[in-house]
Amino acid sequence: MYNIVLFGPPGAGKGTQSEKLIEKYGLTHLSTGDLFRKHLGEGTELGQLAKKYMNEGRLVPDEVVIGMVEDKINETKDARGFIFDGFPRTTAQAEALDEMLSHHKLQINGMIALDVPEEVLRVRIKERGKTSNRVDDQDDEKINTRIKVYLDETLPVADYYASQSKLQKINGVGEINQIFNDITSVIDSY
Ligand code: ADP
Repeated sequence: MYNIVLFGPPGAGKGTQSEKLIEKYGLTHLSTGDLFRKHLGEGTELGQLAKKYMNEGRLVPDEVVIGMVEDKINETKDARGFIFDGFPRTTAQAEALDEMLSHHKLQINGMIALDVPEEVLRVRIKERGKTSNRVDDQDDEKINTRIKVYLDETLPVADYYASQSKLQKINGVGEINQIFNDITSVIDSY
């Protein structure tokens, strides 16, 4: 049973690597971005609420995100573990996650952080924007906001796990399979 936080800036490749990890380890993927986009697509109340934040590249308020993750964890029975992707994105979310997992007698094994330089992120996000239909992928101002929010609010989450000796950094530039192998080496050492 592994519970892993896959961490990194927007465009780092978390979604791509998550897909491969799910296949290899049979874990449940919990991507808050994907969950919000599903709500948006279905036009739920939660989707309506999240929409303005997402489209501007700002963070959805912690209590909204935390409630959604808690529901997802509670409704997933017999999970072999979770890959958390895009969550936690603030220190408050990280604390809430530890608290939620402790109710199920679980904990985070480790955080794997994908390291990708800002110039590369910008190129990748714009490229994805051509096909993703994501409003937040398509203009420089929104991409700038997302990178700034990441640096200001999300980067401290890495310190939170580092202080528990749970942080491992991986080079996120290169062949997808090479990066995947580096990630699996970390997971296999847990
Ligand atoms: P990316 O990693 O490419 O920026 P995501 O798909 O993870 O994108 O998230 C898209 C948007 O959804 C974020 O910009 C934010 O508005 C919202 N979001 C996703 N996860 C969270 C979270 N944990 N806390 C707050 N907002 C979130």
